[in-house]
Amino acid sequence: MDDAENIVKKLLAGDGPAENEYVRLLENYENREITEWITAEAVRLRKQHFGNKVYTRGLIEFTNYCKNDCYYCGIRAGNTHASRYRLSEEEILECCREGYKLGFRTFVLQGGEDLFYKDEDIVSLVRAIKRTYPDCAVTLSIGEKSYESYKKYRLAGADRYLLRHETADEAHYRKLHPQAMSLAYRKQCLYQLKELGYQVGAGFMVGSPGQEMRHIARDLIFLTELKPQMVGIGPFIPHHDTIFAKEKAGSVELTLFLLSVVRILLPTVLLPATTALGSVTGDGRERGILAGANVVMPNLSPVRHRKQYDLYDNKVSMGEEAAEHRERLAKRMKAIGYELTVERGDAPEKNTHRLDLCASPEPVGGFNRRSV
Ligand code: SF4
Repeated sequence: MDDAENIVKKLLAGDGPAENEYVRLLENYENREITEWITAEAVRLRKQHFGNKVYTRGLIEFTNYCKNDCYYCGIRAGNTHASRYRLSEEEILECCREGYKLGFRTFVLQGGEDLFYKDEDIVSLVRAIKRTYPDCAVTLSIGEKSYESYKKYRLAGADRYLLRHETADEAHYRKLHPQAMSLAYRKQCLYQLKELGYQVGAGFMVGSPGQEMRHIARDLIFLTELKPQMVGIGPFIPHHDTIFAKEKAGSVELTLFLLSVVRILLPTVLLPATTALGSVTGDGRERGILAGANVVMPNLSPVRHRKQYDLYDNKVSMGEEAAEHRERLAKRMKAIGYELTVERGDAPEKNTHRLDLCASPEPVGGFNRRSV
């Protein structure tokens, strides 16, 4: 207990604990005294920087095709049972129209690594959204690309990029991904995105197969080094069409503990109470916010496709998880003392790297002309 207390003090003082200290701290995630202390400090910091505001992002899952084969993922290329879909530019813009009316000022364009969409398609899409909704932020979450591709999207106006690293441990990464994928490349992408001036989001799953506390400790150390503006942490949830179908889901309590730890480590970070957390437990969104999170991402994808974006079993996308029920979500947040806001919700500390945005090229294409 004394040992854990000393580690918490170190964490609060901003002296990043060492890997073995993190492990000893994480082993206390069910220790009520330690958990209450960590949570209270996380909430204090969250209120200091964000008051009681909860930012919303409209999540548009625009393609569930993917060239990769991450072993845990329900929409990986090798899953022949997945029912595939792609949205056209017009369909995506329709989601934005709907979202804007509902009060969303950030659109998150998320998809598998789908080679159908060329760089010029993404550029055209980003430009169209920014032209129509200049007061909105555009977040991309479309995986690993080249530096040049990231630069084109950024010049087109993309503000943020989400790319969870999933695990910062090489051996653990190999248990979850095929040889064709590389942790080193993924980390490189994250650093490149930062260099290009994006607000960058990293993150990892809690309780993924083979994960040990020392792996999570490495995730926390990696986050301290990268200093992303956003961190996505959600429990692992098995998908029935994967080799991990029979694995247990990650612990809600450990996920909440980690949200609090990350809030202390990176006090101004944008930290979502994730869909995965909301999927494993009905009050996951509220518990996430009460642990220090400050973002929710309701689903703005066309209702007819929501079930197809089937990353893991029982993924929620309706009810309060659906953008069209924003009011219901607002009421739930109000009931725990928080306020759903209508604003972009940028990171308070901007990425200091800047691109010469004046050099932005003219629009070069669009994919409505091709059949999706
Ligand atoms: S986790 Fe992402 S990159 Fe991996 S297979 Fe699924 S959609 Fe593709």
